[in-house]
Amino acid sequence: MSETANSKSSDGLIDKLNIPLADGEGDQTEVGNYFVANYPPFSFWDREDTEQEQIHEVLNSPSPEDTNLGVYFHIPFCRKRCHFCYFRVYTDKNSNEINAYLDAGIKEFERYAQTSYLAGRKPQFVYFGGGTPSYLSINQLTDLTNRMKDLFPWDETEEVAFECEPGTLTEKKLEALRDIGVTRLSLGIENFDDHILEVNGRAHRSKEAFRALGFANTLGFDQVNIDLIAGMMDETEDNWKRCVETAIEQSPDCVTIYQMEIPYNTTIYKEMKASGRITAPVANWHTKREWVDWAFDKFQEAGYTVNSAYTVVKNPETTKFIYRDSLWEGADLLSAGVASFGHFGGVHYQNQADVGPYMTQVDKGELPIFRSYKTNAEERFIREFVLQLKLGRTSLQYFRDKYGVDPEARFPAELASLKEQGYFSIDNGDIVVSRDGLLQIDRLLHGFFLEEHRDARYT
Ligand code: SF4
Repeated sequence: MSETANSKSSDGLIDKLNIPLADGEGDQTEVGNYFVANYPPFSFWDREDTEQEQIHEVLNSPSPEDTNLGVYFHIPFCRKRCHFCYFRVYTDKNSNEINAYLDAGIKEFERYAQTSYLAGRKPQFVYFGGGTPSYLSINQLTDLTNRMKDLFPWDETEEVAFECEPGTLTEKKLEALRDIGVTRLSLGIENFDDHILEVNGRAHRSKEAFRALGFANTLGFDQVNIDLIAGMMDETEDNWKRCVETAIEQSPDCVTIYQMEIPYNTTIYKEMKASGRITAPVANWHTKREWVDWAFDKFQEAGYTVNSAYTVVKNPETTKFIYRDSLWEGADLLSAGVASFGHFGGVHYQNQADVGPYMTQVDKGELPIFRSYKTNAEERFIREFVLQLKLGRTSLQYFRDKYGVDPEARFPAELASLKEQGYFSIDNGDIVVSRDGLLQIDRLLHGFFLEEHRDARYT
């Protein structure tokens, strides 16, 4: 029998973990971003022109010899806005407006290609995110990628990752993506149930997800990933189990599972605010952790390996995620497009978050940067340390060699406490995060932040 998503009673799943809550943390899903995407948190990035000069300083310096480069392009268009979406997306742009946006993106890449720091460098990985990159037509995709390759050639690129919304895919478009060089196709399926997809405002339905998976599996991509979200509105334990079992039947190379959170600028939050609700109409944190735990167990039974707090992979030897792993080891990221996040030589930046100011600045020949942050060595160490902990296993020696910092000496109290609670252990010189720790890793990571960065939200 199904239970409602917010119910704590269950037939054995709920309460199995008995994860203690941090002081002051409620179990209900309230508004806010908990996901640790970077460090220091975005709310500390500066909007002053003086800070942006730091980016130009790096760009005017010589190319580094030992730092990998990634290229990211942000496509902010979607067929429809999902109720849980917190990104700036546009659902009303015609093809002329989209072409103008793509031209602006190329102009931005051209500007970067002329700098001493980036000229002549070839990306190790390329990532198309959004929004919905697969919203673009075949012609737009071919033209865009040809122009990008002219500026930053892909002949040494090890991974080209591309995010898709299933309802925008045809067999021909998928063929075009494969021919362009996409190696990692990521399908934003989120759930296989049509009612849940509808209630949460998704544009696609399960029929389109199955059709896209069918084409993707036969076209020979190196890697097909599917995204799922645990705890969408109206999710039930029974449905979640069916959803996981369906994903296993589809046999993707990789599955990424997020726990639903409700950031401030979502439709769901606006409705909560209008009706005076503090608690979001989605499963509580305990239930979401239970559901992800159950999913990890099922995937493991089917032969998958859990290789981060959010991912399972069929074959860890062949299924790599270079974008994630390189970024978490300090690669440079040349990021173009509205609202995109990048960094060079330890300086983070984010582009203008609205398409109007973005296009205006690009037209003037300027870099469309909205805010930036120059990290010091300690912040870079913490950034890599917290991000790599999300992988579930990280080498202490790596940090001694790269930063001259021993994490055990730098964080004695924090590590002792996490070990005592059973979240972390030390094995053969590595920090190993237990399953219970992985299921709530983003909450635990805040304990390693510098004092002034704690309690920050990623907005
Ligand atoms: S498809 Fe993704 S980017 Fe587009 S509205 Fe939905 S959540 Fe937002």
